[in-house]
Amino acid sequence: MQNELVSDIYEALLGMIGHLQWWPADTPFEVVIGTILTQQTKWTNVEKAIGALKRSDLIEPEQLANADVEHIEELVRCCGFYRQKAKRLKDIAQFFTTEGMDNIFQLPTEELRELMLSLNGVGNETADSIVLYAADKPKFVIDAYTTRIMKCIGIEGNYMQLQKLFETELPSDVPLYKEYHALIVEYAKNYCGKKQCDDCVLLHSFKDKEVKNG
Ligand code: SF4
Repeated sequence: MQNELVSDIYEALLGMIGHLQWWPADTPFEVVIGTILTQQTKWTNVEKAIGALKRSDLIEPEQLANADVEHIEELVRCCGFYRQKAKRLKDIAQFFTTEGMDNIFQLPTEELRELMLSLNGVGNETADSIVLYAADKPKFVIDAYTTRIMKCIGIEGNYMQLQKLFETELPSDVPLYKEYHALIVEYAKNYCGKKQCDDCVLLHSFKDKEVKNG
């Protein structure tokens, strides 16, 4: 029997929240910038920094690659770890400028993922966010919220184990993966983040529901 837990959770979230159509960005490279800036900070700070980069015409790879790192630091200061993030942005912009964004994003999904992981400051979540939201390729993004929700309903696993669960149980569908991750983040911000566990529909509906395989 096909396990339906993962798709049932999706349907529950979609019913509660509706379509979100992430990632909020004008271009694929703006998505890349956002994935670096959002590490360990709130999205509202990322929006401020991206706005500042846009006003300075530093939102495209070549312009960002040629900018002074001190200037980038000032523009992204609101995101915290700004020296580290400014250097990472400049490095990744140089990489995209040298290799060509189209060439990079045309790579097969796993090859692209490995390439992103080889870049400084890019871990699983950042790499998969770039693969899914910037390159439009099917990789399910696992974040701390996803791990937390799954743990609450009785499913524990590391990043790769949870990603395998989602990718095995769902069709390989880019819009679905994008929407599902967005719904998880939105739900978690409103319930987990605000400690609304007494009203948690996911906990009450899915806790310890058996995962069936085969
Ligand atoms: S709201 Fe509470 S119970 Fe529900 S998933 Fe979040 S942390 Fe777990």
